Amino acid sequence: MSAEFAVVRSERPVGEDARASILAAPGFGRYFTDHMTSATWTADDGWTGHRVGPLEPFRLHPSAAVLHYAQEIFEGLKAYRHGDGSVWLFRPDANARRFARSARRLALPVLPEEDFVAGVTALVRTDEPWVPAPAGEESLYLRPFMFASEAFLGVRPAARVEYAVIASPAGPYFASGVTGVTLWVSTTYSRAAEGGTGAAKCGGNYAGSLVAQREAAEHGCDQVLYLDSAGKGNLEESGTMNLFLVTSDGRLVTPELGTILEGVTRDSLMALADQHGLTAVERSVGVGELRAGIADGTFVEAFAAGTAAVVTPITGFKGEDSGGGSYALTVGEGTPGRKTLQLREHVLDIQYGRAGDAHGWLHRVC
Ligand SMILES: *Cc1c(COP(=O)(O)O)cnc(C)c1O
Repeated sequence: MSAEFAVVRSERPVGEDARASILAAPGFGRYFTDHMTSATWTADDGWTGHRVGPLEPFRLHPSAAVLHYAQEIFEGLKAYRHGDGSVWLFRPDANARRFARSARRLALPVLPEEDFVAGVTALVRTDEPWVPAPAGEESLYLRPFMFASEAFLGVRPAARVEYAVIASPAGPYFASGVTGVTLWVSTTYSRAAEGGTGAAKCGGNYAGSLVAQREAAEHGCDQVLYLDSAGKGNLEESGTMNLFLVTSDGRLVTPELGTILEGVTRDSLMALADQHGLTAVERSVGVGELRAGIADGTFVEAFAAGTAAVVTPITGFKGEDSGGGSYALTVGEGTPGRKTLQLREHVLDIQYGRAGDAHGWLHRVC
């Protein structure tokens, strides 16, 4: 039995017309729905106060542990409206499991997986009118998170923790057609080290990535591709998305787990690979192999995968040699790959109810 999330409705919801104009062009992460899910954990009482209430600011003491030591984790998933008006989540149980894993790594209390799903579901039901109609790839983005709210400056796991879910309508990621991105292979910064927090979805990993993202932009690239921190030169991920390479002999290659984030999209694509004539392979790929493989036509396509964009084609890589020179690689024809776009469409078709859900990934909300 999951906890009951009692609903306390907002007395000042956004009006119908204002909501309609937001949903007409929501962008990403700029507008929020009328409500939020919340619950509080204390060392003495465990989880209490489960509810869906009006969206409102937190009141935090300036010494709240999260503000000093970044004891915080989050998740990201979406609610999709199908053609018949029904609303669905995609593999929320996988997000719940990962949230529990992240909590353990950050010494936060574990929210029972069924409560994670119940809290997300209750919010989507309450804010159901905020789930956009499926004209293209619109969705309601859901952001569950948990942070240390105890007022205390000592360094130890906090004895008070807040859990919340907020929701934000999202427009199509690629507003004017799916285009490719270029990744900057950073040899200045790494994202995660063995024994570190790379496999946890925590804000701290993102704080450290912002300067690397700026470095990528300075080199005319859209995003960063991180290498392992041990200096082996192995490809890891882009910092918000997992990396995939398609080979000319039909392999779908992705770096193995360890210091990377275990993406739900990554796992889903590997499960769908064989329907597209591809064999999924998890293995390390060195930057030397990447360069040689693109040059000799072994790697014919590349893409990044994550909930926000599903699949983002990668059309180029740039980086610096140890000698100080630089390189620029064009993947295939420099346009989104055929298998890349097929896989992208397949996941979207499942999410929007246009294709069979053979794996039972969809979870009906309303
Ligand atoms: C969330 C995230 C991903 C993608 O995970 P999905 O579950 O597919 O959205 C990849 N890398 C990092 C670092 C992430 O935080």
